[in-house]
Amino acid sequence: MYESNRIITIANQKGGVGKTTTAINLATALAAIGERVLIVDLDPQGNASTGLGIDRKDRKMSSFDVMMGSQTIRDAAIATAVPNLFIVPSTMDLLGLEMEIGRDADRAFRLRRALQTVEALDFSYILLDCPPSFNLLTINAMAAAHSVLVPLQCEFFALEGLSQLLETVNQVRQTINPGLDIQGIVLTMFDARNNLAQQVVNDVRTYLGEKVYHTLIPRNVRVSEAPSYGKPAILYDLKCAGSQAYLQLASEVIQRERRRKAA
Ligand code: ADP
Ligand code: MG
Repeated sequence: MYESNRIITIANQKGGVGKTTTAINLATALAAIGERVLIVDLDPQGNASTGLGIDRKDRKMSSFDVMMGSQTIRDAAIATAVPNLFIVPSTMDLLGLEMEIGRDADRAFRLRRALQTVEALDFSYILLDCPPSFNLLTINAMAAAHSVLVPLQCEFFALEGLSQLLETVNQVRQTINPGLDIQGIVLTMFDARNNLAQQVVNDVRTYLGEKVYHTLIPRNVRVSEAPSYGKPAILYDLKCAGSQAYLQLASEVIQRERRRKAA
C-alpha cells in the first residue's frame, strides 16, 4: 500500500500518435524499475489490452464495469506477463457508456470515484489510455487524473492539435479538476532522416519549453511489431532503439515526480 499514487492520463484527440504504445511501454519501464503499475484501458478498441496479451475471452471484467460501479479496481485489475504491471482491460461495452450514464449528474466522475479509493493505493502509478476523441471517456480520465501526458507525433499538424488539447485541459481545470497538471509532452515516431520532423521538434520545444521531455521516441519497426506478439516492445526487444527510449522516458517521468514531491 502506497501513501499516495500518481494517476496520469495519456491523451491526444488524434488517433495513431502513440498513446497506446506509450501507455504500454512507459508502464512496462516503470514496472521494471520497481514501481507497481496499473493501466486502465479506456479505448473501446482495446489496443492496450491486446498489446499486453490479454485475450478478449479473458476480459471478464472491464473498465466499463468499473465506470458502471459494478466492479472495483481491485476486482477488475488483472496481472500481465510483466511483473508488477496490471491492467483493467476494455471491451466494446465502452461504446455504450454514453447511453448508460450520459444523463447522470455524476457522469464525469465515475472513474475518479473508482480511483479515489484505498485499493487504488496498491499501485504507485496508474496510467489511463484514452480513446482518440474528446468524449465522456476522456472527460472521466481528465477528471480522475493528477496529470496529462501528451504523445505528439512529429508531423506538420501536430501543433495545431496540441493547442486544442491544451485548451481542453484548461477547461477541465476551470470546471471539474482544478489540480490537473501537464505531466509532459513526449515526441513520438521521430524520424531523423525527415527534415520536417526536426523542424516540428524545434517548434514544439520553442512553444512549450520545459514541458517537453528530452527523450525523443524514434520511429522503430520493432516497436510496431511487438503488439502483434502481445508483448511490450521492452519485452519483445529490449535492445532496440524504441525500447531504450521508453526506458529513458520512464526515468525522466520519475525524476519529474521526485522534483514535484520535493517542491
Ligand atoms: P494511438 O493509441 O495514439 O492511436 P498507437 O500507440 O496505437 O497510437 O500507435 C499507432 C500505430 O503506430 C501503431 O500501429 C503502433 O504500433 C505504431 N507506432 C507507435 N509508436 C511507434 C514507434 N515509435 N515506431 C514505430 N511504430 C510506432
Ligand atoms: Mg490507442
